[in-house]
Amino acid sequence: MSVASVIDLRSDTLTQPSAGMRAAMTSASVGDDVYDEDPTVHELEARVAALLGHEAGLFTATGSLANQLGVALHVGPGEEVLCDARAHIARAEMGAHGALHGVTMRTWVTNDGVADAAQITNLLEPDAGPYLVSTRCVALENTHNFGGGTIQPLPGLQRVTRICHDLGVKVHLDGARLWNAHVATGVPLDTYGRLFDTVSVCLSKGLGAPVGSVLVGTASEIARARVLRKRLGAGWRQAGLLAAAGLYALEHNIGRLADDHAAAQAFAEAVEARAPHAVKYPETNIVVASTERTKPAAVVEAAAARGVRISALGPKMIRAVTHLDVSVEDCARAGAIVGDLLAN
Ligand SMILES: *Cc1c(COP(=O)(O)O)cnc(C)c1O
Repeated sequence: MSVASVIDLRSDTLTQPSAGMRAAMTSASVGDDVYDEDPTVHELEARVAALLGHEAGLFTATGSLANQLGVALHVGPGEEVLCDARAHIARAEMGAHGALHGVTMRTWVTNDGVADAAQITNLLEPDAGPYLVSTRCVALENTHNFGGGTIQPLPGLQRVTRICHDLGVKVHLDGARLWNAHVATGVPLDTYGRLFDTVSVCLSKGLGAPVGSVLVGTASEIARARVLRKRLGAGWRQAGLLAAAGLYALEHNIGRLADDHAAAQAFAEAVEARAPHAVKYPETNIVVASTERTKPAAVVEAAAARGVRISALGPKMIRAVTHLDVSVEDCARAGAIVGDLLAN
């Protein structure tokens, strides 16, 4: 099977930069960003900060780095951050928060990733005294990746952030796919953004940029994050080439995320028609399905043989992620193939 006919739904990070995005990159004005002299980086950082209702932004190579910096701003060595047991910061950042910043973590457990204020309140220990670890930060994820692209309802976010702030606990948002939550709900980005002390957003997921995330916060926090970033060896020079792709993505690729959500819907409906109850209704661009009779790896392999690439996620789960390089029709076709495999 030729590469072109493969429908690749492993991740929304797999997209190729479009011709328009590449043109924006080649014509970008650049400077040395370690000297803080790259005008395109400045423009991207200011644009994202404004979109999210924050003072300042810092462009980073990855979302993992933006999350590391965000959490490290709030939590010192030997102090803790609370998060979901399947949060990206807990599962997919290679222990960086502990290994590099001495941060400890306690987690809560959910089915679908939706944060529950009462559950979090029970874990909060803002001033634990001389014998126990003190909570400095709560980290939430919206949308929730391993929960299946689930949206955190706004009232829940308002409740959790208010409880934390009343206790002097900071709140960081891993908003790698906050764009998807915004497009699906119509909640303005800054309504989400202003609830949190720091927010990270990815440009390289659904927005289709080749590289990059932005961390936002107060000007003084972002100045500290700049130092921490340099300490990690992650200062960069003419990064405006990459920032230009990010600016292009913000300009052209936010609204069209609705197409990815429709494609996820089409995929899920095609699965459901063949394997009833296997699939969870997708709220955004991530579809998870349970594989009760077969091992996920076997479903992944059989799908690949039929030209559809998906991921195994956990012992009984597969995941498909829609993005700007696959059409609604592709996704319906892929869903039919996966649905047949799950039905057998
Ligand atoms: C992809 C992702 C990130 C960042 O990932 P990087 O690969 O480090 O850019 C952070 N959080 C969530 C929820 C993600 O899905």
